This record gives sequence, C-alpha cells and structure tokens, in this order.
Amino acid sequence: MKSVLSFVKDIPVLFRTYISPQILSDIYQLIVVKGKRITKSFPVEVHVTEHCNLNCGGCNHFSCLAEEEYLEPQQFEKDIKRLRELTKDLFNIKILGGEPLLHPRVTDFFDIARKYFPYTPIQITTNGLLLTKQPEDFWINCRKNKITISISQYPVKLDRKDIKKSSKKHKVKIVYTGSTAKNRMCKIPLDLSGSQDMKKSFQKCAISWGCCVTLRDGRIYTCCFAAHIKFFNKYFNQNLAITDNDYVDIYRVTNKDEIINFLEKPFPFCRYCKTSQTKFAQSWSISKKEITEWIDR
Ligand code: SF4
Ligand code: SF4
Repeated sequence: MKSVLSFVKDIPVLFRTYISPQILSDIYQLIVVKGKRITKSFPVEVHVTEHCNLNCGGCNHFSCLAEEEYLEPQQFEKDIKRLRELTKDLFNIKILGGEPLLHPRVTDFFDIARKYFPYTPIQITTNGLLLTKQPEDFWINCRKNKITISISQYPVKLDRKDIKKSSKKHKVKIVYTGSTAKNRMCKIPLDLSGSQDMKKSFQKCAISWGCCVTLRDGRIYTCCFAAHIKFFNKYFNQNLAITDNDYVDIYRVTNKDEIINFLEKPFPFCRYCKTSQTKFAQSWSISKKEITEWIDR
C-alpha cells in the first residue's frame, strides 16, 4: 500500500505529459484520501487574455464581460519565477483566457513557463477558432516547448482538417475537450447575497478540487470564479467581495505546502455559490450579457 501511495504522490512527469489534459484534471480532482490531497504538487492556470472572441453565455471565467486586456509577459515571469522558488514542479500549467490566441505575444508565455518548469506539462487551452491563422513560428514554438494544444469544443465550426495538418507537420499534440453538443454548458448559480454555507458550497462544488486553480497578480485562487469575479462585479455593478482570506499571496507564503493546505479548504467567497443547484447540460449560446446567465432566473 505504501509503495502505491508514494507512486501516486508524485505521478511521473512522462505520464502527466502524454495523458489528455482533461483526464489529468479529473485525476487531480480525484486523488484525495480522507479529505487530504496526496499529490506533492498543484496545478496552475493563467489568463493571458481577459476577453474572448466567442463570448459564451454564462462563461465561468466572466470573459464575455471583460474588456480587452492582456497580461504582460514580465508580470507572468515575475510570478512564475516566484512559484519556482516555492516548488520544483507544478502538476501542470494551463495558459488560457479569455481566448489566449488573441494575445500578440502568446508564445512568450510558453518560453517563460518552460524556462522555469522544464519538466512540467504545459498546455494552451483555446476555443480553436484562431488556430488556423497562427503563423509557422507559433507551431515551431509549441514543438520546442512541448506545449499541448487543448481545444475546448463548442457548437461552432472549426477547420479540424487544417488544424490536424499543422499539428502533424510540426509534431504538436492536440487534444479536444468538452463537446460540440448544444447542451454542453454547466452553471453554478451565484447567490448575490452571499448567504450560502461556505463549507457545504465547497464540498458540493464540481470545481473546488483543483480543476481551475488560478494564478493572478501574484495570488493563487482555488477557482476561476473567485479569481475573475471582478469582471462580473464591474459589469453588473455588484460587490461580491474578495477578501485576503480568499487567496494565497505567493510572496507571503514560505513553502508550497501552505498553498496546498489553502486549496484543500473552503474559503469565504464560497458563500456566493449555490453549488447544490449546479445545473449540467445547459444550452450553449452567445452571451447577451444578462445577469440571469450567472444567477437563478
Ligand atoms: S470560449 Fe471559453 S473563455 Fe471564451 S467565452 Fe466561451 S467559455 Fe468563456
Ligand atoms: S468559490 Fe468555492 S464553491 Fe464557488 S466555485 Fe469556487 S470553489 Fe466552488
């Protein structure tokens, strides 16, 4: 038993590199024993672009509400360098948004992530709409940095043939996640009054166990909701509060265990989530930017 546990504790890098990123996230969410995570690392995702070219209704990252905004590679390098001081390996790194391919310097993020984490699986998560417009240099960089391209599917047309041709030519791994079915969306309704029980919300949450741990402005958030709520607040003139207890400041902690401990526990922002009323198989459509896309109708 002990040897099995120690194997799982540090899932080998090769395995993490070649398995589908979606399955990898699922595994990460599952490897919990008696409420304690037993891996020695944690995943991280980063918005390099806040806005999106698809603007799905009820986007969990609130990207359809965000204005045009790009992450500076220097800010990313500062934070990723600090994470490297705290841990020699991350479970995986996801570069996303919004739509990350809208960033004019998207490959800079690949170079930086690979520089500090030479063995960590790195992926870009994209809706794929701009993939066929990428220059040769993009594909060459993906190959050089061993970047997996993870395409989140939606009920929109993609030139899969052309994408396959480029990936084959440049030996870049492509994986498709999600579904092209119309009812592919999941909705966790927000409670604007913040009167939910945070522990119960966290326990019943489909994304609380590491599916979207987010690095943003030197802080680690457990989920995309807490990390990006400012776009919702601004657009709808709300005040779903983020306090100092809702994230870890990576410049204040002294080791990675403090981060892992934080990720295992509920935090105050969870009181805004009606996770017991999570709705799966919701219809996909372009956002009308109406608040009902995020709250109960
Ligand atoms: S493609 Fe993804 S990031 Fe863009 S709006 Fe849709 S769900 Fe949000
Ligand atoms: S804030 Fe808490 S309950 Fe809400 S989505 Fe994030 S982890 Fe889940």
